[in-house]
Amino acid sequence: MSDTATLSAPEAPVQAPAAKAVRNDWSREEIAALFDLPFTELVFRAAEVHRTHHRAGEVQLCTLLSIKTGGCPEDCGYCSQSVKADSGVEATKLMEVQAVLQSAAQARDAGSKRFCMGAAWRNPKARDMPAIIEMVKGVRQMGMETCMTLGMLDEAQAAQLAEAGLDYYNHNIDTSPERYGEVITTRSFADRLKTLDNVRGAGINVCSGGIVGMGETRADRVGFVHALATLEHHPESVPVNALVPIKGTVLGDMLADTPLAKIDDIEFVRTVAVARITMPLSMVRLSAGRESMSEATQALCFMAGANSIFTGDKLLTAANAGDDADAAMFARLGLKPMEGEEPLRAMKAVGGCSGGCAA
Ligand code: SF4
Repeated sequence: MSDTATLSAPEAPVQAPAAKAVRNDWSREEIAALFDLPFTELVFRAAEVHRTHHRAGEVQLCTLLSIKTGGCPEDCGYCSQSVKADSGVEATKLMEVQAVLQSAAQARDAGSKRFCMGAAWRNPKARDMPAIIEMVKGVRQMGMETCMTLGMLDEAQAAQLAEAGLDYYNHNIDTSPERYGEVITTRSFADRLKTLDNVRGAGINVCSGGIVGMGETRADRVGFVHALATLEHHPESVPVNALVPIKGTVLGDMLADTPLAKIDDIEFVRTVAVARITMPLSMVRLSAGRESMSEATQALCFMAGANSIFTGDKLLTAANAGDDADAAMFARLGLKPMEGEEPLRAMKAVGGCSGGCAA
């Protein structure tokens, strides 16, 4: 056959999940057994799940802007924005609303469908909320989805953001419950879950994932996926980050000169694949660490079920693959930017999925 058009991948329809396709009763043993599968078998199974529920040739483009950088009182061991880190990151004030909207317009013009805004806070203060609300409303008026990550939220703040029309709230669980206290001491794993409850209770979509490559064990990665996959409602979005070790941070200094500094690519892809299998309807987001991954590793991640990336040169304070590099990679891999609704949200819009769905 010489006509290459006839060889292009057919657009498989996204199917409603079969009964029990979405489970939140995963045991740690089951998740560990998935991690232990031969690599090609694991990726094959993840790809099957992915193709059943998602358009496998499409990847959603999101842009992340730091609207308030540095000076954060929390002590997350991976973060250059903590006051405890000696990373040279300067603390800034909250950006003006108009400047944020200008950045959002640029992101939209570059093809982003979602604009994520991050502030280095333990939690937003009452005085910050009016500007935050203006940002959410303004970005939504541009036709983009909105996501914010502002630290801990109480019920009233979550309700205010829901009222403004916020689509997603990001609040990562970071790592396994057991490892949490070794990475962060200024808040607890239970604090994290409380904010996720407040966000969910307000009707905002949940974005929650974590970071691998922080020197954790395979058992911690199992515990991390288990904590997310056994939530009563799976997060609509699950970012999987590879640690970018930054000099001056606790983990950056500890890991920079050790073989653990960069997670093994195969183990990273395994984590993506297990997240895809255990949370079949969620968007699995390739986040920090992508700029140091080969295209081949990223291609394996897309094969294993990752279907969203952050675009632009920066992810908060860390370097990211730039728009040009991503466009070239998409062309080489034959991927398209995602258009339209995510499968999970589309299913919710028509009254929920057909059986056993935790969403
Ligand atoms: S990760 Fe967020 S909460 Fe933790 S120190 Fe950095 S900005 Fe603060």
